[in-house]
Amino acid sequence: MPRPPIIRKDPGAFVVAPNLPDTDAARAAFSWDSARAGLQGLPGGGLNIAHEAVDRHANGPRANHVALRWLPASGAARDITYAQLSRESNRYANVLRGLGVVKGDAVYVLCGRIPALYAAVLGALKCGAVVSPMFSAFGPEPLKTRVNLGAGKVLVTTEALYARRVRKVEGEMPTLRHVLRVDDPGTRGMLEGAPERFAVERTGAEDPAFLHFTSGTTGMPKGAVHVHGAVAAHYATGRFALDLHPEDVFWCTADPGWITGTSYGIVAPLAHGVTSLVDEAEFDAERWYRNLQEQGVTVWYTAPTAIRLLMKSGAEVARRYRFPQLRFVASVGEPLNPEAVWWGKEALGLPIHDNWWQTETGGIMIANTPAMDVKPGSMGKPLPGIEARIVHRREGGLAFVEAPDTEGELALRAGWPSMFRAYLGQEERYRKCFAEGWYLSGDLVRRDAEGYFWFVGRADDVIKSAGHLIGPFEVESVLMEHPAVAEAGVIGKPDPVVGEVVKAFVSLKAGHQPGEDLRLQLLAHARKRLGAAVAPKEIAFADSLPRTRSGKIMRRLLKARELGLPEGDLSTLEGPA
Ligand code: ATP
Ligand code: MG
Repeated sequence: MPRPPIIRKDPGAFVVAPNLPDTDAARAAFSWDSARAGLQGLPGGGLNIAHEAVDRHANGPRANHVALRWLPASGAARDITYAQLSRESNRYANVLRGLGVVKGDAVYVLCGRIPALYAAVLGALKCGAVVSPMFSAFGPEPLKTRVNLGAGKVLVTTEALYARRVRKVEGEMPTLRHVLRVDDPGTRGMLEGAPERFAVERTGAEDPAFLHFTSGTTGMPKGAVHVHGAVAAHYATGRFALDLHPEDVFWCTADPGWITGTSYGIVAPLAHGVTSLVDEAEFDAERWYRNLQEQGVTVWYTAPTAIRLLMKSGAEVARRYRFPQLRFVASVGEPLNPEAVWWGKEALGLPIHDNWWQTETGGIMIANTPAMDVKPGSMGKPLPGIEARIVHRREGGLAFVEAPDTEGELALRAGWPSMFRAYLGQEERYRKCFAEGWYLSGDLVRRDAEGYFWFVGRADDVIKSAGHLIGPFEVESVLMEHPAVAEAGVIGKPDPVVGEVVKAFVSLKAGHQPGEDLRLQLLAHARKRLGAAVAPKEIAFADSLPRTRSGKIMRRLLKARELGLPEGDLSTLEGPA
């Protein structure tokens, strides 16, 4: 049912003073040079992400602070301090160097969320390698494609993943010189025998550090190259958008196989010297609530897909847990339906703060920060250092949209430190993302009179019906207001009369059955809330919606299946590998 449009923040109610008390004032005063002043730099010059994330703390007063609290899928938690993580990553750096890894070489890491992943990624960065963390559920084919695209030289994996994912295609990855299985006795011996010290490669801000693949929501995943200098943005956004404070226990639920799990599951929290929770296990509602409660999580960064699953699991489960330590919750990856923001307030005691960014942007660009009033459904305002505008692409160049509440493409002034530097192997495509000094995101948004940005839809997903431009998000959010609906995915279906008609696919919460009555109810509810021009004309029930492995609804697949068209690249489709 309709809710109030705004959640006001009470400055007197903050237990910990927010790092960004006034976004507008901070934007005016901000410079990237001032943000870089929060970094240390390599002794003698240069910049390396692993030094900022680990070694500078290991060499200082936070040496014995817990860097990672690892929760194995079963068994007791294990704490790893900054000093230990520094030594462990040095061992990996020495082993990789021993295998011939030098600056610029590509190292792939396919490990699952275990401590070795973190040590290997950081160790490879220390070697000056370009690191590409792979999602552990990828099957052999997607793995092979990615390794070959980036000319991977070493693949770090486990015995189990080697057997399941690598062996079959090992001979088809010609650049690969070594496959290091971290738990085989030979490698274990090598790691134990390796020195605990390592002189970090003198990388600079413009040297490549990571190769991250996009989620494949709209098509074939792209490989985005990021540089060491990006750490300035991870640091600044960790401070502003995630509000990290030294004593925080932070939990980013994303896997490092997606950029969120690296930028905010490895780099940002470690750069701030906080304790970061790593859960090896997959999503489980009880387990996640228990983690939040028992680990005393203070700042939580998760995704709409997880929130929808928690909502689906029901309020009774949430009611068994308490979260007195939790002070800030943020979400990224897909638009966050207003219903989910409100669910946070009810189930966790805090609204969920949506923020927006992409693999290409490397870090959070637009956010609801702790001190800002939240307008549920809005992704917030640009962070300090980020200039965001709304544009229309025209023959002669860009036209900037000034009027509030007008849709257009989200553009960011190029030059923030974590901006991608290439789409690997696709120069032309990279070039086309920029015009007149602006990066064009491919997402449609509008900005209200108070400067809040609202997501409309991906340019590819927007529906044109009888002269209206309809964003699927708006329609999905309204369907989700209905108590029976767990998830909704909306597409445009070609129609000879109106261009496209709106069709919705809906999955239901436990205890609700699909049927003609419910279908009519949903159609009526949507029509009442959206008007006949925007409301779906057709609703189909589905047990679940096709999703990427990072949890995003794949509307292109709903559409392809509806129209009987080829399904396209399915390498990131969720399902058994
Ligand atoms: P591909 O580019 O391969 O199709 P992808 O765009 O899903 O996949 P990512 O870089 O992981 O790959 O996701 C970025 C996109 O996710 C954004 O461009 C946007 O469409 C969507 N997104 C992320 N956060 C938000 C948000 N807070 N609100 C709305 N959309 C979001
Ligand atoms: Mg994309």
